[in-house]
Amino acid sequence: MIRQKDNIEFKVISRQLAVKDEDSTSFTVTVRKTLQKYNLPSAYELINNTPSKEQWKAMVKEATNKYYKNNITEELKRKSTLKHLSVQENPLDEPHAIYKYVGSNPHEAEKAAIKARLLTGTYTLQANRHKYNQHEVDATCEMCKHEAEDREHFILHCTTLSEAREKHLPKLLELVPEITGRKEDLLQLILDSTHENLLYLEESCRKSKLVPKIEQISRNLLYELHINRTQTLARKK
Ligand SMILES: [Zn+2]
Repeated sequence: MIRQKDNIEFKVISRQLAVKDEDSTSFTVTVRKTLQKYNLPSAYELINNTPSKEQWKAMVKEATNKYYKNNITEELKRKSTLKHLSVQENPLDEPHAIYKYVGSNPHEAEKAAIKARLLTGTYTLQANRHKYNQHEVDATCEMCKHEAEDREHFILHCTTLSEAREKHLPKLLELVPEITGRKEDLLQLILDSTHENLLYLEESCRKSKLVPKIEQISRNLLYELHINRTQTLARKK
């Protein structure tokens, strides 16, 4: 509409933009607030310097992606179970690394779903069950009985599941040898190798296209841990 400056609607709208106050609920105020929310140029600037349709599309896309990236990132900082989860640059257009390299194979998608649950803290381990039912449920790992079964114990330490780890972890360490001995970073790499906590691996892993391989190995590792855990616990019952 603002590209047709002789148009009567254009004249009405630009007048409204000039006179209405913030609390009004008219269309123009909604427009103004939306532009502000996504940090886009004001309606005045757009009228005086109207972008082409293509430019405008690109501006909106960039602005909304930035808005959601910032908001999601803030939200994640407040939740400790989500501390390993990264937000990609364009969350509205680009799938998360977990799903990005899965392809169309349904079995790979199933593995990715297990990984996503572990990454977001929605995979139920003994420590999660204990948290919600402290009097009746003990957090101790029901397989090895060594310590509380939290995410780190399940992925890195549980001795009952060491076979799956011995099969997959060496492949990961071969790709990213810098991570050896850094327990917290190894956990991060397995859960989400694109997280900003691992920026120091930028050269070796993010830029050199290792992410799809890392994702595949960690997807296989977590899935096998999950299957072994499920089978072990079923046998105990
Ligand atoms: Zn255990």
